[in-house]
Amino acid sequence: MQVLYQSTRGKEEKVTASMAILKGLSEDGGLFVPTSIPKLDVPMEKLAQMSYQETAYEVMSRFLTDFTEEELKSCISRAYDSKFDTQKIAPIREANGVYFLELFHGATIAFKDMALSILPHLMTTAARKNQVKNEIVILTATSGDTGKAALAGFADVPGTKIIVFYPKHGVSPIQEKQMVTQKGANTSVVGITGNFDDAQTAVKKIFNDRELAQELDRAGYQFSSANSINIGRLVPQIVYYVYAYATLVREGKIKAGEGLNVVVPTGNFGNILAAYYAKQMGLPVNKLICASNENKVLYDFFHTGTYDRKREFILTSSPSMDILISSNLERLIYRLTGNDAVKCAELMQSLSQGGEYTITEEMKAQLADFYGNYCSEGETKEAISATFYGSDYVIDPHTAVAAGVYQKYLRASEDNTPTVIASTASPYKFTRSVMDALSDRYEGLDDFALADALSKLSGVPVPQAVEEIRTAPVLHDRVVDAADMPATVKNILGIE
Ligand SMILES: *Cc1c(COP(=O)(O)O)cnc(C)c1O
Repeated sequence: MQVLYQSTRGKEEKVTASMAILKGLSEDGGLFVPTSIPKLDVPMEKLAQMSYQETAYEVMSRFLTDFTEEELKSCISRAYDSKFDTQKIAPIREANGVYFLELFHGATIAFKDMALSILPHLMTTAARKNQVKNEIVILTATSGDTGKAALAGFADVPGTKIIVFYPKHGVSPIQEKQMVTQKGANTSVVGITGNFDDAQTAVKKIFNDRELAQELDRAGYQFSSANSINIGRLVPQIVYYVYAYATLVREGKIKAGEGLNVVVPTGNFGNILAAYYAKQMGLPVNKLICASNENKVLYDFFHTGTYDRKREFILTSSPSMDILISSNLERLIYRLTGNDAVKCAELMQSLSQGGEYTITEEMKAQLADFYGNYCSEGETKEAISATFYGSDYVIDPHTAVAAGVYQKYLRASEDNTPTVIASTASPYKFTRSVMDALSDRYEGLDDFALADALSKLSGVPVPQAVEEIRTAPVLHDRVVDAADMPATVKNILGIE
C-alpha cells in the first residue's frame, strides 16, 4: 500500500515520501503527515529475532513506500554502522525497576544521531529519485547539539555540503570544540558575533531569498534543511520503539502483546510523536508519558487544553528541552482535529499571532493515552543521584527529567505496567551537571577532568566522542557578523 504525505495546514496536494523529505516543510508552512498510519504487519516473534537494521527496514519501508528495497537497505546499512559504539545500536539497561533505552551510542553521544545518521542518505536518495541534479547544501543555525549531530551525519556524504552557524559566545566550550574540530571536506562551521536568534533569523532569511536561490541553482546547488520537522527525521525514530519492545520480548521481560509504558524527555515533541506513531502502527504501547523541564508548556497543555507560549524562557540543566514552541506537536493536533487541516491551520495561526490556542473538549478527550508532568531543577538533580545511589547507573539531566516524571506518574497512578525511559544523552555530554548532582567534591575541575572522574565513578569508559576532541586540531576558525552570513555562504560555495 502506498503512503502519501500531505500538509497539516490545508494545501491538499499529496506528495510521495521522497518529495516530502526533499521539501522538508510544505509551502503553506504546514508539516507533512502520512495520509494514514501503516500497520506493523510483522509478527512480534519475528521482530524479536531481528537486528536493529532489519527492524529499521520493516518499520521504515511501511512509511517510505516510494523507496525501493535496495535503496532503503543501502541507506540503513550506511547509517547504522561502526559510527555506533555497539552493534545493538540502541541497547537497553535495566535500573531502578525500569528499562532505559540508550539512544546515545552514535557519533555525538545524543539521541539526534539516531535520525541524523540516516537523513543524509535518505535525502541524497530522494534527490536521485526525483531527478534533482543539484548538490544539496544543508544550512543550519545551532545552539549546540543539533549542529554537531548534523555535521557528523552529513560529513563526506557525496552530493551534499553542510554549513553550520553557531553563536560564538553562546555554546559550551565542549560543544564548540566538538564543532570546530569536525572533519569532512564538505563541512563548514562558522561562528557568528550575535546570539542564537540572530543566527536562526539570518538562516531563515537566506532560505527565503529567491535571488540567492537562483544564483545557487546556476552554480549547481540547492538549499535544504536538516530540521527536526522533516519526515526523514521522524520516521527513523519510530524504529527504536519497535526494537525496544521486541528486545524485551526476546529477553523474556515482557510477553508479546503485553502493554509497555514509554517515558520521553520532551522538547520539540519529535521523539514522543514517534512513539505515538509506533502505537498507531499497532505496537502495544500503553501510556505515553511526556516529561518536561521547567519550561513546562506541554505539561500545562495536557492539563488545561491551552497551549500558551507567553511565558519566561528558563535556562535549565537540560538545554535541549528548553523550548517554548514544540513544533512537532502540530502533527498531533492535526490528528486530534480528525485530520482537519483548516482547523489545524487556525490553531497554529492563533499561536503565531496571539501566542496561544485552546483545543476543544472533544479533542482533549483523545489525549487519554498521554500523561504529562515536569521536573524542577532540584527534582532533576535528585533523580540523577537517586538512580546512581539506587543502582550504580549514571544518567544525564534530560534522562533524569524523564526518570523524575516517571516517579510522579507511579505515585499518581500506581500503574505497574513495564516501562521504558528514552535515554536521550550520555552523561558524558553533561558532566558538569551530572557530577554536581552526585557530589560537591568535583567543583573546580575542568570538563575533561570531570569526564575522567565520571569514568572512575561509573566504571563506564570515556566515550570515543569525548576522547577525540581532547586532542583534535581546530579545523574551522571563521567568525563573521550575522549580517555577513549570505556573503559567507556564497564564499564557501565559491559563488561570486
Ligand atoms: C533534542 C533532545 C531532546 C528533545 O527531543 P524532542 O524530539 O525535541 O522532543 C531531549 N533530550 C536530548 C538530549 C535532546 O538532544
